[in-house]
Amino acid sequence: AARNDADGVRGYVPSMGQIFLRRFQLVTQFRQALDSGQIEVHYQPKVALPDRRVIGAEALVRWSHPEYGRLDPDEFIPVVEATGLVDALTSFVMERALVRVRDWLDRDLRMSAAVNLSVRNLADESFPDRVSEALVRHAVPPELLTFELTESSVMADPERSLPVLRRLRELGVILAVDDFGTGYSSLAYLRRLPVDEVKIDKSFVLGMGTDLSDMAVVRSIVELGHSLRLQVVAEGVEDDAARDKLVQMGCDTAQGYLISRPLSEERFEAWLQARTVR
Ligand code: C2E
Ligand code: CA
Ligand code: CA
Ligand code: CA
Repeated sequence: AARNDADGVRGYVPSMGQIFLRRFQLVTQFRQALDSGQIEVHYQPKVALPDRRVIGAEALVRWSHPEYGRLDPDEFIPVVEATGLVDALTSFVMERALVRVRDWLDRDLRMSAAVNLSVRNLADESFPDRVSEALVRHAVPPELLTFELTESSVMADPERSLPVLRRLRELGVILAVDDFGTGYSSLAYLRRLPVDEVKIDKSFVLGMGTDLSDMAVVRSIVELGHSLRLQVVAEGVEDDAARDKLVQMGCDTAQGYLISRPLSEERFEAWLQARTVR
């Protein structure tokens, strides 16, 4: 583990001991982080194609850690997922998201919020009741709440997760398969999942401009999704060329840096304001 200033950050390789220590700290500090405002929810808009109308936003967590600075969810979510704390995280994000949706409705904006679920939520048979209670408490119609889940989180324990998904769907919330195209995706399997929406993994969308096979994957997911009567969302839309291609293919919804990066609540509201005024 070489660390010297001449090497700069790039030369620093943490030892196994340091990695374990950091993971241990993240687990033990997460609860307090949640309660003390270190965990923030950012929002990334989703727009309809081709008209670019804003139809909602995905809620994405950020951790401003007092020692490590801004932590990427890819670093702390897997750690938190390994503990029971992910239930608290999902509830926290869902509460924030429902407050946003209610606030938008009060301003005559019919927009939905999407919340990412973890494998633990899908194994939790009491989760749908908590969702139902939260929708009532916030007076939000169920179709304005979307849950994003990966196929691998469903596949981890289908006997437990499928009944949970069915109950969620009965409530009327929208279910989306996230990161589609990675993992065990298969046509037969997608057909059996009780979902409304498929989200093409950003790796394929990002690759479309340079890689013909990525283009072919995106096109076939759009066609597959539509043949199953699913809404098709593309994430990772970074440039006009990708957007134009997706419009040509008939993709329904786009999300990505071209439209906006994920923004803090205040900045998202400002962005929305600037958009609707025009
Ligand atoms: P995800 O659900 O696939 O979310 C999309 C990720 O792509 C986000 O990364 C987003 O910032 C990024 N992204 C959006 N547009 C673009 C683009 O145009 N180009 C590129 N290169 N990237 C783009 P982020 O925010 O770092 O989140 C990473 C992952 O962490 C998420 O992947 C999701 O799996 C997980 N995550 C985030 N928030 C939550 C949460 O509240 N609960 C759970 N269980 N997982 C979460
Ligand atoms: Ca997602
Ligand atoms: Ca995704
Ligand atoms: Ca992901």
